[in-house]
Amino acid sequence: MNTQIRLQPIAIAGAGLLGRLLAWRLRLLGHDITLFEAGKLQPDGNTTRAAAFTAAGMIAPLSEAVVSDVNVYRMGQFALQRWPEWLKDLPQNDLPQHTPDLFFAKGSLLVAHPQDESELQQFESELNFVVPECRNYQRVSSRDIQNLEPDLSPHFMHGLLLQEEGHLHNREFLQQLGDELIRLGIKIRENTPVETGPQTIHTDTGVEKFDWVIDCRGLGAKNRLQKLRGVRGETLHVETSEIHLQRPVRLMHPRYQLYVVPKPANRFVIGATQIESEDRSPVTLQSSLELGSALYTLSPAFAEARIIEMDTNLRPAFMDNLPKIFCKPGLIIANGLFRHGYLLAPAVVEQVLAQIAQTQHILFPDLLQVSTPG
Ligand SMILES: Cc1cc2nc3c(=O)[nH]c(=O)nc-3n(C[C@H](O)[C@H](O)[C@H](O)COP(=O)(O)OP(=O)(O)OC[C@H]3O[C@@H](n4cnc5c(N)ncnc54)[C@H](O)[C@@H]3O)c2cc1C
Repeated sequence: MNTQIRLQPIAIAGAGLLGRLLAWRLRLLGHDITLFEAGKLQPDGNTTRAAAFTAAGMIAPLSEAVVSDVNVYRMGQFALQRWPEWLKDLPQNDLPQHTPDLFFAKGSLLVAHPQDESELQQFESELNFVVPECRNYQRVSSRDIQNLEPDLSPHFMHGLLLQEEGHLHNREFLQQLGDELIRLGIKIRENTPVETGPQTIHTDTGVEKFDWVIDCRGLGAKNRLQKLRGVRGETLHVETSEIHLQRPVRLMHPRYQLYVVPKPANRFVIGATQIESEDRSPVTLQSSLELGSALYTLSPAFAEARIIEMDTNLRPAFMDNLPKIFCKPGLIIANGLFRHGYLLAPAVVEQVLAQIAQTQHILFPDLLQVSTPG
């Protein structure tokens, strides 16, 4: 434990992605942490869960930069270094046998059907425009695609291998981290929706005082952050032993873009729609048909896969779709991770840690707003 830092009682609101990570990293520094969660630490599929459980767990700086900006790419590069370092601090003894590891840096593969190959060219042009310094991708031929992912349909003639991307078995990670937070002695207050203020947490039963309050409630902070919105995303989960993928595969298509991400136990997450709506109701028939039929074209062997889950959630986003950290004495609010939560979390977490330690160190200047949220 670091004895240079003054150890403080800190409350964290929200045990989704950011809340769990911050509780963990701050506890490892020796702080006294209380974590408030409106739902449960290990939620089942029947209740509203953190967006972190719906996410596919891709850490895709190149793919995401093309739909956002160069800062997302830079924070993504930072994430690809930080995740394996952090994971060394997580005991993995309880992992089931089929989960040898949680984080993979095997890149991702973009493919397009022969009639849609202009989509690949367009992606490459946009990538070079948004991230001119990026060299870490490679055009691949039909034979390369078969060598990389032998179970994909052989009709893909060209693709792009984005070496500088990774993926995480995020649900397994969240569950293990939840267990670790308990083992580390963090006080966890489940089923406790809260409101936040400088040094104060408001629960149904009263007000509690801390040195710092960190608000990581995702979309639950909407009443405080008026410019925050939810962006609906739907995913399918399928299971099949007929197909093995080493890395996420994205299908570039003029109307809808699909990704498939390999998960433990022959599972795959297929996603995701992106709809400007705060509707949390179940996956629509149209979305399931589009995701399912696009998946089938990646490999007909997916036809026999069993659909084991359909999931819907809302991505917390500001109008510019970029994350923000608002700071004032006794209160830090971190939010707006949109569709890049696992990619942005290391940069956001490190910045919040620097703020608590009052080091004045600003890693990514565009992230930090020392002001009251609007
Ligand atoms: C379909 C989909 C696919 C995605 N895929 C990816 C991906 O591949 N890669 C990637 O990087 N990102 C992905 N994301 C984005 C990622 O999931 C989010 O950016 C991330 O989860 C946001 O983290 P957060 O901690 O801010 O919010 P959340 O993870 O949503 O956590 C917020 C927590 O706060 C709790 N809470 C809410 N209100 C209160 C209250 N009043 N009191 C106490 N607790 C409260 C909630 O119960 C929840 O546990 C995806 C998202 C979706 C929806």
